[in-house]
Amino acid sequence: MSKCVVVTGASRGIGRQIALDFALSGYKVIANYNKSEKEAEDLKNEIISKGGICEIFRADVSKENEVKALFEFAVSRFGYVDVLINNAGISKSGLINTTSLEEWNEVINTNLTSVFLCSREAINIMLQKHEGVIINIASVWGVSGASYEGAYSASKGAIITLTQALAKENGPSGIRVNAISPGVIDTDMNKCYSKEEMEELIDDIPLGRIGKCRDISKTALFLAGDDASYITGQNIIVDGGFLL
Ligand code: NAP
Repeated sequence: MSKCVVVTGASRGIGRQIALDFALSGYKVIANYNKSEKEAEDLKNEIISKGGICEIFRADVSKENEVKALFEFAVSRFGYVDVLINNAGISKSGLINTTSLEEWNEVINTNLTSVFLCSREAINIMLQKHEGVIINIASVWGVSGASYEGAYSASKGAIITLTQALAKENGPSGIRVNAISPGVIDTDMNKCYSKEEMEELIDDIPLGRIGKCRDISKTALFLAGDDASYITGQNIIVDGGFLL
């Protein structure tokens, strides 16, 4: 029986690639989106046209009732959640002394509270079979805080320690929890950089290129699979050596 994966923020960027690669590897996919309905529908059509199974579901993953609805939908469609990928996220740049509480809360709620809310629902499902995998998409800026990205760095750093806490708490129940910390990946999130700024960034990356969404989706596939059955509580940095 094929497994079910819930991917948050699957309408664009890294989440889209994860949904696509999991579907093509035989997973039944619940692809969550918030604002990008057309992109989510395009993803579903692409997966189905390639022989995969996918349902899309709109939910703002920072909202408790919408997250509950997302997991109720997943169970109603596929009966169980084997894998959860907490990918949805936003970045807001700005000096901390000019960041409003509203901006701070938006970043923390979207990036971090969503991981709590979705993991809570998923764990309650996974406890039925004592089996499951959670993968949290953090960031290199959660390992080493970035200037001008205080709220983002705080949200991602907390995801890494929450990953460790969940791994310890749920390992005895057969649930593995890991994080992936991408470096600079080619998505809409980095559209704000000019060509020159991007070239400067690439100069700081030992492998000489920015990352592709596939660099992250393939790592997620490995962590979700049996070849990673003895790995939990880890944060896998996928950044071409950027942080070294
Ligand atoms: P992206 O291209 O901007 O896509 C973000 C995705 O998150 C979209 O599908 C968006 O859905 C979804 N999303 C945002 N807020 C949401 C909410 N409240 N509820 C549900 N979905 C929501 O970003 P990305 O680069 O792929 O980033 C994906 C993850 O990787 C994020 O957690 C990000 O922090 C992390 N990351 C990215 C990089 C990078 O360089 N790109 C580096 C390190 C870490 P809608 O459009 O439908 O609203």
